[in-house]
Amino acid sequence: MKKIIVIGNGMVGYKFCEKLVAKAVKGSYHMTVFGEESRPAYDRVHLTSYINGTSAAELTLASEAWYESHGIDLHLGDPARKIDRTAKTVVTEKGLELTYDILVMATGSAAMVPPIHGVEKTGVFVYRTIDDLDKIVGYAAGVKKAAVLGGGLLGLEAAKAMVDIGIEKTYVIEFAPKLMPRQLDDTGGAVLRSKLSALGLRVHTRKHTYQVLGKDRITGIQFVDESELSVDMLVISTGINARDELARDAGLPTGTRGGIVVDDTMRTEDPAIYAIGECAAHGGMIYGLVAPGYDMAEVAVTHIIMHHLDGEKKQRLFTGFDMSTKLKLIGVDVASFGDPFLTADKAQHVIYEDKVNGIYKRLNISLDGKYLLGGVMVGEASQYNNLLQYYKNNMLLPNALESLVFSEQKGDKPAGMGLEGLPDGALICSCEGVTKADICQAVNDGHESVDEIKKCTKAGTGCGGCVPMLKDLAAITLKAQGKAIHMEICEHFTYTRQQLYDLIKLEHLRAYDEVLEKHGKGDGCEVCKPVVSSLIASISNEMILRQNNDTAQDSNDRFLANIQKGGSYSVVPRIPGGEITPDKLLTIGTVAKKYNLYTKITGGQRIDMFGAHLSDLPLIWKELIDAGFESGHAYGKSLRTVKSCVGSTWCRFGLHDSVSFAIKIENRYKGLRTPHKIKSAVSGCIRECAEAQSKDFGIIATEKGWNLYVCGNGGSKPQHALLLAQDLDSDTCIRYIDRFLMYYIKTADPLTRTATWLNKLEGGIDYLRKVVVEDCLGKGLEWEAEMQAILEHYECEWKAAIEDPVIRKRFSHFVNAPEERDPTIEFVAMRDQKRVAEWQ
Ligand SMILES: Cc1cc2nc3c(=O)[nH]c(=O)nc-3n(C[C@H](O)[C@H](O)[C@H](O)COP(=O)(O)OP(=O)(O)OC[C@H]3O[C@@H](n4cnc5c(N)ncnc54)[C@H](O)[C@@H]3O)c2cc1C
Ligand code: SF4
Repeated sequence: MKKIIVIGNGMVGYKFCEKLVAKAVKGSYHMTVFGEESRPAYDRVHLTSYINGTSAAELTLASEAWYESHGIDLHLGDPARKIDRTAKTVVTEKGLELTYDILVMATGSAAMVPPIHGVEKTGVFVYRTIDDLDKIVGYAAGVKKAAVLGGGLLGLEAAKAMVDIGIEKTYVIEFAPKLMPRQLDDTGGAVLRSKLSALGLRVHTRKHTYQVLGKDRITGIQFVDESELSVDMLVISTGINARDELARDAGLPTGTRGGIVVDDTMRTEDPAIYAIGECAAHGGMIYGLVAPGYDMAEVAVTHIIMHHLDGEKKQRLFTGFDMSTKLKLIGVDVASFGDPFLTADKAQHVIYEDKVNGIYKRLNISLDGKYLLGGVMVGEASQYNNLLQYYKNNMLLPNALESLVFSEQKGDKPAGMGLEGLPDGALICSCEGVTKADICQAVNDGHESVDEIKKCTKAGTGCGGCVPMLKDLAAITLKAQGKAIHMEICEHFTYTRQQLYDLIKLEHLRAYDEVLEKHGKGDGCEVCKPVVSSLIASISNEMILRQNNDTAQDSNDRFLANIQKGGSYSVVPRIPGGEITPDKLLTIGTVAKKYNLYTKITGGQRIDMFGAHLSDLPLIWKELIDAGFESGHAYGKSLRTVKSCVGSTWCRFGLHDSVSFAIKIENRYKGLRTPHKIKSAVSGCIRECAEAQSKDFGIIATEKGWNLYVCGNGGSKPQHALLLAQDLDSDTCIRYIDRFLMYYIKTADPLTRTATWLNKLEGGIDYLRKVVVEDCLGKGLEWEAEMQAILEHYECEWKAAIEDPVIRKRFSHFVNAPEERDPTIEFVAMRDQKRVAEWQ
């Protein structure tokens, strides 16, 4: 029996144990594991979720009982301190001395702390372990301003944690001229910066930190250019240093940039010692992601079995690893794959930039236009998995290159697009090395749900990025077998969206946790949380802040206002149909003047007021509500405006009173929460001055009544609305809108506009017409009644907020001085009004 010692019980150390247990013959080895941390290996990738309530136990990859059940001796809180390669022994801090036949180094890395004066001061932390987080949370209690040093992947994770902890002001300090310099090009970095800034992060680039200020405790930081920033806490996240000290002391070669040098089999210079994960340097490279670490664990296991143990003899080699990544940083999608930086002499570029919505995509295409070589996506990355497959499998690109950039085009998908077009060997789960063929085989073997596929193949259990592809592959494979397709939301809920809607409604469930406890399992995920929250919001029509449903929804919901560039807020009162009295106009003018707000008339025919301080919001609302205004829900995924032309009351072409109908409709659906924002318009004749055919639902007067159009939108991918029904009387028109909206609410994924939803709907507009007009599902009356019940619960959220002292407390910048404004928000004059000052 061979004695194997594993030093390090992090993600990769654990993966090694799991793979060895699965592949080697029991009894051919005995394994001992030494871990420096006091808890068994946990999911470091999702460390930040610990701040949001995920417990240490929930993050644990396998319990101590698991190690015991597989005969593994696990020593936690007892780091190895010395390796004697001649005697083949390991000595630990607690004085244990054990011999080995095979030694596996999986010591990972430590947060790199740059040589800044004063980093030892109280209030300076690193961000790597659960213990680090405990310390940060403990210290953060009185902290108002925190800085994160490092604007890379880990720094932005840490910044997210600061936001989640509830620190009022978080600064990100980056030495490079842009954020995520290793993954993003200049424009991508700039777009990410402006998106994160809009969410309240203060980003400083090109800043070289010189020293930490304060006596014993941090009071600020000073930069090399002598400027200073006053902060109460600093989290350092500037990179990693491989933990190679033990190996170095034992005389093993390390790389020039650190890391224990290994060959393609993960062996070090010493044939009895392997190194895997972030402590290993392969080809001069240290891989700071978990997927390559897992691959290294697999390679080491196959080599150890091949040369030392009984088990399946199958050698794999590690020949490098693709570092493509897709992340959600504080709600912003960011992806980078292949070589994102290729210049014009090496690649042609397809670039899409939407400055309004903060979306940037750059694809680097081979000079012959045939292959994808790399790319960057910020703000929207739903095409990432597809693009990654094109890149990794060297697949021929379609002629219509724009289809690679726009996620849901109408019409046919380009050739080779979609999972059907992928070769069997295409790697779907990079973390666990699972191919398309493996997944299809698992489905063919009867593992039909995502949960079962995950258990059977391990795909989707690493970073989780491939889970949507698992769902689609299962559907494709089942369809090919002629079987029904499971439409479950995710592994935590074995219900379809419609079934869950009915359960929430019937049982009057009001919070995500309640729904999870009664009908779900596990801890939930990024797929089911927004689905459930959106369903609750739609069904109950309850003030969003009461059951804390805002947290799983949009960040703007938290303050019932859109957070603007610079950290101020906008105030948008409802102006139904765009009709407003002179008195109300005067009120808006008075309020805007009093609180020094910038005013602008919008395309939706209302008046936005920008530049409000958080603490002023309740005061502003109070004045507006007293004058008869209501919330315009400009911050919510709900009905925004119903625009109208002047119609028959003033226009000589007008066939009907479009203004009155628009007001009626806006007042009917105001406050209704939907999967995405909803816009509408009513035109008094076919001249279409209100642009109703560009709305989610639009109405145009005809000689005989109203024509109803649905599923149009403007924005980055404009789509014309399609005619659903003609010449309707007003009541029928409203009944059809009820049915249309209920069907949309019940079946659309969160953040899916009606146009996208229709594009995905099998049968398209013809089927939608059958559902809504012909009532082929027999649900029409039920949906109308449901809509009526929901609408009867309407209340103005602003009014509810200012009348509830607990909710009102949220609207203060400083907890101890509620009236005090955020002193860092600066404005400058512009055209007799103000605009936000550029941030330094
Ligand atoms: C906040 C955060 C977010 C991340 N997000 C992502 C992501 O989105 N995607 C991604 O792919 N990767 C991500 N990573 C990186 C990922 O977590 C690492 O790649 C992975 O954890 C590396 O695993 P490892 O086992 O090599 O090292 P580690 O997880 O660092 O484990 C090494 C373990 O060995 C222990 N050890 C060290 N020396 C000794 C000794 N002498 N004796 C005993 N034990 C010792 C250490 O204490 C540690 O517990 C993230 C990391 C962090 C910190
Ligand atoms: S749409 Fe017709 S009714 Fe309305 S303003 Fe234009 S021309 Fe007049």
